[in-house]
Amino acid sequence: MISPKYFICLLLTIFLFGIPGSEASSDSYQQIRADYQSLVKSSQQQRQRTNWEKIIKRLDRFARQNPNYAKSENIYFLKAKTWHGLAYASGATADARKARDAYLLVADRYPASSLADDSLFRSADLSEELLSDFPAAYDAYRRVVEDYPTGDMFNRAKKRLAGLPVPKDAYLISRVHGENSRIDQLRFWSGPDKTRVVLDLDNKVKYKANLLKGKNPRLYIDLWQAESGSSVSPTISVNDGLLRQIRTSRYDKERMRVVLDLFQLQDFKVFALDNPFRIVVDVIGKRLQMAKKSQPELRALPQQSDQSIAGILERHPSVNQAPLHVPQQQEDEGIKLIVVDAGHGGKDPGAVGPNRTREKDVTLKMAKYLAEQLRKELKCEVRLTRSDDRYLKLRDRTSYANKVDADLFISLHANANKNRKAYGLETYFLNLAKNNQAAEVAARENGTTLEEVSHLEAILFDLMANAKINESSRLATEVQQAMVKGLKPHYSDIKDLGVRQGPFHVLLGATMPSVLVETAFISNHREEKRLNSSTYQKRVASAIVRGVKNYAATLEQVAKR
Ligand SMILES: [Zn+2]
Repeated sequence: MISPKYFICLLLTIFLFGIPGSEASSDSYQQIRADYQSLVKSSQQQRQRTNWEKIIKRLDRFARQNPNYAKSENIYFLKAKTWHGLAYASGATADARKARDAYLLVADRYPASSLADDSLFRSADLSEELLSDFPAAYDAYRRVVEDYPTGDMFNRAKKRLAGLPVPKDAYLISRVHGENSRIDQLRFWSGPDKTRVVLDLDNKVKYKANLLKGKNPRLYIDLWQAESGSSVSPTISVNDGLLRQIRTSRYDKERMRVVLDLFQLQDFKVFALDNPFRIVVDVIGKRLQMAKKSQPELRALPQQSDQSIAGILERHPSVNQAPLHVPQQQEDEGIKLIVVDAGHGGKDPGAVGPNRTREKDVTLKMAKYLAEQLRKELKCEVRLTRSDDRYLKLRDRTSYANKVDADLFISLHANANKNRKAYGLETYFLNLAKNNQAAEVAARENGTTLEEVSHLEAILFDLMANAKINESSRLATEVQQAMVKGLKPHYSDIKDLGVRQGPFHVLLGATMPSVLVETAFISNHREEKRLNSSTYQKRVASAIVRGVKNYAATLEQVAKR
């Protein structure tokens, strides 16, 4: 019971402050946009800084409270426009920078959206008109011209571009985030007449290359506002007759320096590629004959159908010829460490069932059961990417597995479909999608659109150089078979949807065999109920353990041959 005194207090509180959160949850995007429109119409209201800031705050809150809002790019675009308006009203450089960053965020996060080229153009306009930052303006106009040749901003951007001086630096961009970019990986491979080095970064950077000629020529690349990831070793020896070694170190407070110590060289090329951002360095020249190759090589990729990575490489002969360097390639010594990944978490609930069951909660429970049983049955070490309800970026999940040098990576999920009748179990491994359904599942798990999935496929081929496609496909097969076999005796309607392949962000970049398991359909009433029961969770876990055991057994057979 509640005492009368307390009750009056409560009433007073509600009267004075409103029901906590009520304003926030009733705020709609349409309402915010309408208020923005009346603000830009009233020159009197525009003079008040707080009027602009209120709109920005409401948009931020709306974005936070509606993480699955279908047209989220509209929220961020409107936010950028609000900063833009404030920048004109205040004349403050800081506001103009905020506006520019907000536009670039839309362009970077939603490259397939029709707002992307508008955002780039507006960011360029701001750089030119309000910030006098001509290199940044040049870069953004260039992106409109190169990336959106059929967009409605093309002609205007081209005209503006012609009126700007070409920046001296090869590639200059304004940064979207305040924090440092991170070098996640350094890769290289040796072709007949060149050695290619790729710096994989988690974000764009400004960079500049320089050549020091002489007896011991060196090529160095300075990266501004960058840092080196923990998996990048300070010195990587190459010794392929062209390139001696790659050294990475901090040059000064601002810059990281990557030095390529060369045997000799005729020419070099440095360029950047987007999505994901990477800097490519080609060292061109005649190779010195080396006594012995010091690095393991993979000369041929696994045989796959034409849709596969191997098929794509076939169509890129220059890439195909190059022997690929495979980091961490070593003798199989069995399975010592497994990373289990509970899908989604924190602000990302994953799919939500008809009775509001959240994928992130189910996957966490299952992951814990799976870890426990794997430890017991396989006597190996198991680590979880998360052991509580927290948000993790997709790429951080595999980089964690790479960092701890895991032998297997298993990501747990629950499936969803608009058709509530859909049900069953399926297991995925990383490859190009073979059909539209697989692409749709990938789009949902990636949190992106179908368009972005096809864009992702186009750039997959160089990311997948290190993916263990054959092993992953074998692991997926064993896990899928074991799940069907293990669950059928206990439940009616266990449907085997089979092993599939798709371009999943969460599997991208993993250097060990890795699979994604869709343990049931959370969108189906019957299966949602099962997902909620700890009995089902434990049974799925022990079935997966069975599958991993079978996979390990085939590994041993391969090793004995
Ligand atoms: Zn999922």
